[in-house]
Amino acid sequence: MMSDYIPMNPFVMGFDLLTGLSDDAESTKRLLSKMKGMYHDDAAFETILEKEDPKVYEFYELKIPNYASDLLFGTSITYPGKVGNEYYMTKGHFHEVLETAEVYYTLSGEGYMLMETPEGEWKAEALSAGKAVYVPPRWAHRSINTGTEPLVTFFVFRGDAGHDYGTIEQKGYRKLIVEGKDGKPEIIDNPKWAK
Ligand code: ZN
Repeated sequence: MMSDYIPMNPFVMGFDLLTGLSDDAESTKRLLSKMKGMYHDDAAFETILEKEDPKVYEFYELKIPNYASDLLFGTSITYPGKVGNEYYMTKGHFHEVLETAEVYYTLSGEGYMLMETPEGEWKAEALSAGKAVYVPPRWAHRSINTGTEPLVTFFVFRGDAGHDYGTIEQKGYRKLIVEGKDGKPEIIDNPKWAK
């Protein structure tokens, strides 16, 4: 394995503190149409798509080799918006190497990091500029924008961790964050969650 290892050279790149965007790399963009079934209100989802296919979030996947000795980093930008009463969010994922952690540091915006373990523990941590959240090994994580500006975080995790999106796509999260009747975020049980 080590004989195949191609070491990285030092480099720098920029990320805008407000928009999270970089002039130095191309982002991966996630449109609403690619999140079918992930929001609890399917009718509201279809109604939006009849008119437009909004960009829900984007993030950077740098071409850094997937070795345990390397670190992957970049920004994740979740835009403000809702599907029905459910706030825009990322798909969320476990790491393929489940026992790997991640740190997200909030650059701008407001929202939550919603996390859960395969065993059923869950936690929603509030994010705002200056707050760093530690996502321990085993915890799936999803960013949710409950504000009116883009929610921008900077993340770092182990190079070989990988992304397991499939588990969340099939089962969903146990909890959802929706706008309550008072206009404030409210955590509810996911009616679609598959045991
Ligand atoms: Zn991750």
